[in-house]
Amino acid sequence: MNVLVINCGSSSLKYQLINMNDESVLAKGLVERIGIEGSVLKHEKAGHDKVVIQEPMGNHKVAINLVLKALVDPEHGAVKSLDEVDAVGHRVVHGGEKFANSVLISDEVINAMKECIELASLHNPPNIIGIEACKELLPTVPMVGVFDTAFHQTMPAESFIYPLPYELYEELGIRRYGFHGTSHKYVSERIADLTGKSLEGTKIITCHLGNGASLTAIKDGKSFDTSMGMTPLEGLVMGTRCGDIDPAIVTFLMNKKNMTTEQVDNLMNKKSGVLGISGVSSDFRDIEGAADKGNKRAKLALDKFSYTVKKYIGSYAAAMGGLDILVFTAGLGENSSPARFQICEGLEFLGIEIDKDRNIVRGKEVEISTNNSKVKVFVIPTNEELMIARDTKILAAK
Ligand code: ADP
Repeated sequence: MNVLVINCGSSSLKYQLINMNDESVLAKGLVERIGIEGSVLKHEKAGHDKVVIQEPMGNHKVAINLVLKALVDPEHGAVKSLDEVDAVGHRVVHGGEKFANSVLISDEVINAMKECIELASLHNPPNIIGIEACKELLPTVPMVGVFDTAFHQTMPAESFIYPLPYELYEELGIRRYGFHGTSHKYVSERIADLTGKSLEGTKIITCHLGNGASLTAIKDGKSFDTSMGMTPLEGLVMGTRCGDIDPAIVTFLMNKKNMTTEQVDNLMNKKSGVLGISGVSSDFRDIEGAADKGNKRAKLALDKFSYTVKKYIGSYAAAMGGLDILVFTAGLGENSSPARFQICEGLEFLGIEIDKDRNIVRGKEVEISTNNSKVKVFVIPTNEELMIARDTKILAAK
């Protein structure tokens, strides 16, 4: 069975065609600048060089059509015909409280996804456009929606409720939802496989540290708390997002600088985080480079980032009443030994002890704690596409 995984952004689209018999990737690619001049498709058949296809792509339907063409291309395609695409799995950012699990997509489901748009006005519309385009192009192929928020629907009320008037939760759905759920779930399940430990009775903190970053406290295999909230803006310091700040800063800025809601929103989402503090870049590689050369603001950005992650680890250990396993994943978590070291330094009192040599590792599944460390610390590369494909396989077969 072959599953096509699609992740539609506002002007981009990532895809993977996965053979679910052995979970191998047959082809993958990325479309950029959809609806903008200079649209480009970068397609890669497994074991072959990347091909770059430059063609105008005015909308997602045109882009998906080109992806499908690339997949069956006699030269760089991965299958002979589209009949070999057995199901499509779509990443959907926000499922609100409607979706606690992945779901087989029907018209009713699409309508329910549309109702979640006001909670994720940036992310859900392109996800839905991608689904509708695929439905037109592959009308008989079953499609599944996999939600970033779904894994966190197990959070207890004291984790997800905001201390605002309760009516706002009832009327507008203002509560914490959490994101990156597919990634947090994947790495926690992978840990169970690797260690042979049952998720039941195990307390795990997963650190998804990429451009967007979040931590999740996982108890008995279920999300117990997570750092992102109603939107992905809450929580850790991120590439360009501020994470937790005093909410009074919003009105203060609006009054002092005559800023509009859009301007404040843009400032907190696009100009803050490690970019805002360092003034160097949102990319941790650039900031680490600048800090090494003595740039004080770059160092401060890294210090603030690690300090925030450290505080969350402490608070989640307290929230769960202990910690057995700590996992690092995503771009920075998988690749940056200095960041992992800085985060774990000083957490020995919790039983976290990093082995300096084992920690010199990139993008591999490996334990980086010492043999004596009470808490086992791992690097686990995330694989959200595979997780989406697995759910799609199960639901499409029903
Ligand atoms: P997203 O999917 O949220 O865009 P990723 O998980 O791909 O993010 O992570 C991207 C980030 O990972 C980059 O901004 C970069 O800062 C960081 N990163 C990747 N490789 C390294 C590395 N070798 N050292 C430090 N940071 C890295």
